[in-house]
Amino acid sequence: MNGNTKPIKYRAVCNVCHRISYAPPLDIPIIGQGDAQIEQYIMGSLVGHLQSEHPEAWGLVASNIKEIGAFLACAMFELQDPAIQGRLNLLRYALHTATRKVRISDGTILDRLARAGFTTEEIERIGPVMRDMRDALTEEGQYKPEGVKDSNLVTV
Ligand SMILES: [Zn+2]
Repeated sequence: MNGNTKPIKYRAVCNVCHRISYAPPLDIPIIGQGDAQIEQYIMGSLVGHLQSEHPEAWGLVASNIKEIGAFLACAMFELQDPAIQGRLNLLRYALHTATRKVRISDGTILDRLARAGFTTEEIERIGPVMRDMRDALTEEGQYKPEGVKDSNLVTV
């Protein structure tokens, strides 16, 4: 490294107050336990900021951590009680919704069908089928689980 090279630092922006901070690259393993630097960054810097500056947001995170822990523990059992099944289903839905990488709008479906060369008449027949399949896969519309609130998980 020559004297003109600045060390790399990555930016982190708080989604609540938009405060910007910088940290050196972390060596985070895909699988396995991270080192003390990772723990310090996440627990000290990020969690510390939420706890001190945004206690209401931290409260949501903390309650979700508890819920996710319970979900993972329950996933290790075959549980017969329908009340537990309903609660787990809502949490599973919230995780699925919050972590979904791709969102497909009605317009995207129509655009893709048109670009694939389908006629207007064909799109009118196929479009609703594709929207229904999207809704089934993403649990939206008529497939949304009963009792779902708009924000079951922390979303800032
Ligand atoms: Zn903040």
